[in-house]
Amino acid sequence: MKVLKIDHLGIAVNSIDQGKNFWTDILGLEFEGTETVEAQKVTTAFFPVGESEVELLESTAPDGPIARYLEKKGEGIQHVAFRVGDIEAALQELKEKGVRLIDEKPRKGAGGAKIAFLHPKSTHGVLVELCERK
Ligand code: ZN
Repeated sequence: MKVLKIDHLGIAVNSIDQGKNFWTDILGLEFEGTETVEAQKVTTAFFPVGESEVELLESTAPDGPIARYLEKKGEGIQHVAFRVGDIEAALQELKEKGVRLIDEKPRKGAGGAKIAFLHPKSTHGVLVELCERK
């Protein structure tokens, strides 16, 4: 597999409305608007930074993965996403290497990306997302 770049950093926030000011007003990043991914009970907001992006994540339901993360750890970096060229092949290869996968098959992420998460138990505590975009 080939990891092409860090696609984005996923940051859990209580509120995108309140959380985005640091990234826009203070750091001067561009705000690309929000997108809700109902299947993951999350609303996302992307802020491009060079070849990567900051992704803010706000929960849409109390039982969603971001709500559970905020409850346990509070606001902060929730995952790191790496861009790959072929996500199915990457997952197959990682599985063969004994990496524990949260998603055996890619699911649909924000912006029409194909995404899959690796288990933090296999990555020394980092929730890693693989991401394939056209
Ligand atoms: Zn992400």
